[in-house]
Amino acid sequence: MSTRADGRRADQLRPITFEPNIAPHASGSVLVSFGSTKVICAATVEPKVPLWMKQQGVRGGWLTAEYSMLPYSTLDRKQRDISKGKADGRTIEIQRVIGRALRAIINLDKLGDNTLWIDCDVLQADGGTRTASITGAYLAARLAVQKLIDEKRISENPLTDSVAAVSVGLLGDRELLDLAYVEDRDAQVDFNVVMTGRGQFVEVQGSGEESTFSYEQLQSLIALGQKGLKELSSLQTAFLTRQLLARG
Ligand code: UDP
Repeated sequence: MSTRADGRRADQLRPITFEPNIAPHASGSVLVSFGSTKVICAATVEPKVPLWMKQQGVRGGWLTAEYSMLPYSTLDRKQRDISKGKADGRTIEIQRVIGRALRAIINLDKLGDNTLWIDCDVLQADGGTRTASITGAYLAARLAVQKLIDEKRISENPLTDSVAAVSVGLLGDRELLDLAYVEDRDAQVDFNVVMTGRGQFVEVQGSGEESTFSYEQLQSLIALGQKGLKELSSLQTAFLTRQLLARG
């Protein structure tokens, strides 16, 4: 079977690493790497909720996410949103996806009167920055929640499941897992699959780029995504077990 540009099999993830406590002032943080794609994911607890929740009598806490690409994360310098005066459509789309992924696995009633800010900042982009962001954001959120529990600011874990994400795509006649930028650029079909550790889907974003795909291809791409997501979920569990045990 022919290999990919970086030597991977079609159904192989890039090397995945999680480096904890990359941003010590955050309540929980991790530098997540999917190969050369590297994202700083940080979760910060703010002891208040948005005004609209108070006004509408909505109980519990809130979770919101922001995403950005650092100017030097791309081959050509990417101008900061603040210099342009507004976030572009892609940024807004990605931060909403991250927020939805995390809100699907949190019981906000159990978060108390707190807002969990999820910040994903891309340090190096090589395709799949949103999937790496979601996978790392869950870890940062779990670490932040543990801090709240340890400090007795909440009594139980509001996270009901884990969540991770991966891309899959069709390049020629090959179905590929976890696309790097050169593959993503040329793929005629590109999917982002978001799934919980228990195997429930949160989101499937997929489209043909000047191309179409069959129902069989759709099923087979989702199955490939599920395979990658099971592996990502195991890696997340192993990481969190180490981190939570190391607290002593
Ligand atoms: N990219 C870039 N500059 C941009 C947007 C994207 O260099 O302004 C590259 C980057 O490597 C990114 C890839 O294109 O990871 C694919 O971008 P896409 O919008 O598909 O999102 P992603 O795959 O990162 O979630």
